[in-house]
Amino acid sequence: MEKALVAGQWTRARSGATFDVIDPATGQKIAAVPDLGADEVNLAIAAAYRAQKPWAKVTAKDRASSLRTFYDLIVANADDLAIILTAEMGKPLQEAKTEVLYGAAYVEWFAEQAKRIDGDVIPSYQLDKRIFVVKRPVGVVGAITPWNFPSAMLARKLAPALAVGCSLVAKPAAQTPLSALALGVLAERAGLPPGVFNIVTSTDAAMVGSTLCASELVKKISFTGSTNVGRILMRQGADQIKKLSLELGGNAPFIVFDDADLEAAVEGAVAAKFRNAGQTCVSANRIYVQSGIYDTFAEKFSRRVSRLRVGNGFAEGSELGPLIDANAVKKVNAHLENALSLGARVTVGGEPNRASEQFFLPTVLVNVTSEMTIAREETFGPLAPLFSFDTEEEVIAMANDTEFGLAGYFYSRDLGRIFRVAEELETGMVGINTGQISSEMAPFGGIKQSGLGREGSKYGADDYLDIKYVCLSVG
Ligand code: NAP
Repeated sequence: MEKALVAGQWTRARSGATFDVIDPATGQKIAAVPDLGADEVNLAIAAAYRAQKPWAKVTAKDRASSLRTFYDLIVANADDLAIILTAEMGKPLQEAKTEVLYGAAYVEWFAEQAKRIDGDVIPSYQLDKRIFVVKRPVGVVGAITPWNFPSAMLARKLAPALAVGCSLVAKPAAQTPLSALALGVLAERAGLPPGVFNIVTSTDAAMVGSTLCASELVKKISFTGSTNVGRILMRQGADQIKKLSLELGGNAPFIVFDDADLEAAVEGAVAAKFRNAGQTCVSANRIYVQSGIYDTFAEKFSRRVSRLRVGNGFAEGSELGPLIDANAVKKVNAHLENALSLGARVTVGGEPNRASEQFFLPTVLVNVTSEMTIAREETFGPLAPLFSFDTEEEVIAMANDTEFGLAGYFYSRDLGRIFRVAEELETGMVGINTGQISSEMAPFGGIKQSGLGREGSKYGADDYLDIKYVCLSVG
């Protein structure tokens, strides 16, 4: 492809520089894309600025219609988009297609919401005044997305932004730019005006981030990625009080109480831990099992995990693909070794695959304690640590003992407990008796150091809107 989307033009880097995109399963180069510099990022910002006001003046109904066409094109091309995604990111093809359709669902949802950006008429404080509230698009949005969901994380931003009349300069992760570029091709085919959706590819993420933050034309940054980079962007946006949406790291607790349906809890834990080979922000990072059922759960869970099939995402039946890169493998190994050195035991897995180190075998650890690194840090890999607890009070304290607050899960059949624990968990999202919670119809997002703002649902548009109060004297 070797081109990025700047100001409605498929563009090479002025310097001619490109960088390679590698299939993590094979280590083979699959494409090269332009390594853009600050000049091109500023061109994209200027184009987004020029395109935004006319786009905001398009009627909501027509914006909705363009987005609906875009959605239809994503769905019609979902098989090809899934192939691109698996090739650059590694996840199994079926999971890639699920991601593409999950992302598309945001485009569909916000196409519908575009027509429902309602204002308000508020009772006045004086007889001769009228109070109106209208909502206006914030303007140009800088969107920075990670490699673990290269299609859906971008869709979650571009859909609400474009629906309400913002324009976008998107920077995909350097490891996975192709899914974003493919969405750019389809946006163009859907007839979105040139300049409303720009995609800048670069190996210099810090430069792109600081250029977006320094530009007076960019009114908002929407970021999904690590908490550390979120902090950097918050600092860089401070001078201009830049609006921010941050979808950051997690350290999700997954609690199994002794009144749970154990078979369902095993399946839920497998889904919440091993989807995308554990490389999701809502991955179950710490699995807490009540002491009376600990051994039974550990045995059933380990048996189930031993049946998971690891392999190239294109191979029939693969359930776990490779980890994204050597650093990811190193991090999982470091968490594993630290846990083993402090007394944990492996029941299944525990090593990189012999065929290729990039494929880490799904692993279960027992006798895990809160002193271990895995209790505090996001592993982002297929390593499932089982902690033991005795009481509800104790496990809530353990679950909340983290600076993160994205997702939390628990399994119980006690109605009182279900309410108590759902209220006490310090997370933006709670899954009860399920390990899968993401939907375009629900508000996705975290509290504490897991972020600011929400993506999806009726709340998701608010992040891209300013509220304007209009006071009219009728005297
Ligand atoms: P990351 O290092 O923060 O990268 C995310 C994005 O930020 C990439 O596009 C990256 O570019 C870019 N970036 C890196 N340094 C930057 C800088 N100084 N300024 C501006 N942009 C910069 O995160 P990651 O490790 O790839 O992704 C995994 C993290 O994302 C995990 O912590 C995970 O929990 C989180 N996540 C959160 C959610 C959520 O919804 N809350 C969803 C998915 C993932 P390059 O890749 O090109 O360097």
